[in-house]
Amino acid sequence: MRVLIVEDEQRLAENLARGLRENAGYAVDIALDGGQGLFLAETSDYDLIILDLMLPKLDGADVLRRLRAAGRTVPVLILTARDETESVIALLNAGADDYVAKPFDLGEFLARAKALIRRGKGRPAPVLRLGGLEINTAQRSVRRHGAAVALTPMEYRVLEYLAHRASEVVSKEELLEHLYDYNWEKFSNVIEVYISGLRRKLDGGPGPKLIQTLRGHGYMLRGEES
Ligand code: CA
Repeated sequence: MRVLIVEDEQRLAENLARGLRENAGYAVDIALDGGQGLFLAETSDYDLIILDLMLPKLDGADVLRRLRAAGRTVPVLILTARDETESVIALLNAGADDYVAKPFDLGEFLARAKALIRRGKGRPAPVLRLGGLEINTAQRSVRRHGAAVALTPMEYRVLEYLAHRASEVVSKEELLEHLYDYNWEKFSNVIEVYISGLRRKLDGGPGPKLIQTLRGHGYMLRGEES
């Protein structure tokens, strides 16, 4: 998953980014003003946008309205100061999905961010179950037929993304777009390495394979609920 933080208090932005990377394993981009935030939101495909209200160049409300006017459905979590209640109501009515008031608890912020991403993918439950696979997105742990499976952090991120899009074909380009922030060089062969690691750990036994390759198109996680 990939998150955009639009926040002009650099220290806060970096703390939130660190929390999202370390606690949720998300890729995170930071924009320090509304103009850059809108540009990134329009040119990259994010799974969640964290949006401060008072921003230089273009304020958070304008960023949100322009995104929604352009038909972008990405979940938006508003960061607000305590005295901005009226703006919060206006923003929820303008298409924001949730808000947290500063100063807020990092744990609460992370839980809200994760919940919005799950809901945005149409899978609100924190534990995903499919084909004998169980993914606990709160603990970032995986079980196959009841047995714990040890994955590397990147293998987990690939699997979680595929699971949120189960039964749909996901291209390598989409995986790169959603798993890396813009500072990374993106090489599609790294995805093949993670997929082969996942196959070895999850699809080693007999029976139907969980991860399907559609040559030239991408990958698909079989989506039958177990
Ligand atoms: Ca601000």
